Amino acid sequence: MKIKVTHFAAKKIKNGDPLIQEDDLLKKIETTQWVDLISPTNEWLAKGYLGKQNKGIGWVITQEVGELDQLFFEKLFIQAKQKRQMYYQETSTTAFRLFNGEGDGLGGLTIDLYERYVVFSWYNETLITKKDLILQAFQAVFPEVIGAYEKNRFPGNQPESQWIFGEKAPEPLLIKENNVTYATYLNEGLMTGIFLDQKEVRGALVDGLASGKRVLNMFSYTGAFSVAAAMGGALETTSVDLAKRSLDKTREQFLVNGIDPETQKIYVMDTFDYFKYAKKKGQTFDLIVLDPPSFARNKKKTFSVAKNYGELIEDSLDLIEEKGMIIASTNAANLSIQQFSQIIEKAMLKKKVKFVKTATYQLPADFSTLPSFSEGNYLKVFCYEILK
Ligand code: SAH
Repeated sequence: MKIKVTHFAAKKIKNGDPLIQEDDLLKKIETTQWVDLISPTNEWLAKGYLGKQNKGIGWVITQEVGELDQLFFEKLFIQAKQKRQMYYQETSTTAFRLFNGEGDGLGGLTIDLYERYVVFSWYNETLITKKDLILQAFQAVFPEVIGAYEKNRFPGNQPESQWIFGEKAPEPLLIKENNVTYATYLNEGLMTGIFLDQKEVRGALVDGLASGKRVLNMFSYTGAFSVAAAMGGALETTSVDLAKRSLDKTREQFLVNGIDPETQKIYVMDTFDYFKYAKKKGQTFDLIVLDPPSFARNKKKTFSVAKNYGELIEDSLDLIEEKGMIIASTNAANLSIQQFSQIIEKAMLKKKVKFVKTATYQLPADFSTLPSFSEGNYLKVFCYEILK
């Protein structure tokens, strides 16, 4: 099927922008077939597909002529596997991203490896209609994978999470990262218990950044940063998350590493309530990790990074020791690295502290991105040393 795009979109496609937006099409069209994208002057541009997502309405797949058949996807998977050889060789880490959507040539699909199992995440309904083709290509290239689950990350009737082939994974499935063990659950809703894109930050905590420190982990989820810090020699960790499930999940992460959870602090509490509580109690910390969701709503207020991150920094500065460190993280794709720095540094100036940015982390290499699509490069993590 041929689809005409605007002059502007034709230029974007030629520049390697893979995301198709609603305004790019000359006529509104819905189809689950692969499409040929054509310029207003009938120039053939690329192959791709239309599928409504959280952002965008489709993806450009290739500007090369040829069929989007099983062989095509096998080639993509072979390239993806080759790119990750260093992760395969690294025996201290057994979970990583095998295929990262547009960064590996097919927007709308990510695949994560957890030991010998994988998790497919589909971001639109169109790709689901190509599932057999994609799974066949995948299994041809990754015969060593013994079982798979999928997450359906779009509205519709599909279950959020389900088993798709092979053996079922144990629950929990224990994976390793930088020789730290994490308990994961491959078939519990959309999340598995660990965000694999933060491995380098956790690695830094394991490798000495947290050593001898009292660590506060805000928006702690299953406490992965806390466990990394504790395994890296932190004196004590405090984990704070609003979700009730976080308590047992965090305890479990300590237990699977041989750490008695009773020696660590875990609060099921709103972050801003915890800040008030800690201030009242005169608590202080040497290292504070801030990794909120990019948007959250609870009974009391909505949180957005653009509007509220500054408050998180200000509150953290009230609790931080001289020469302490704040690790400020966000996965908000709509903020540039400069904008995120500015939000943080404005709050620091308001609180009249001196600071030095000592490190910056972005996505690790397994989360491969396209230089022509900066939105895909969403993760921003800064380490700030605070000199009061
Ligand atoms: N930092 C975590 C991931 C955070 S996911 C990690 O690296 O594993 C976001 C978490 O923020 C969720 O677990 C959610 O329950 C929690 N959350 C959302 N709003 C919150 C709030 N107001 N106070 C505390 N936790 C909150």
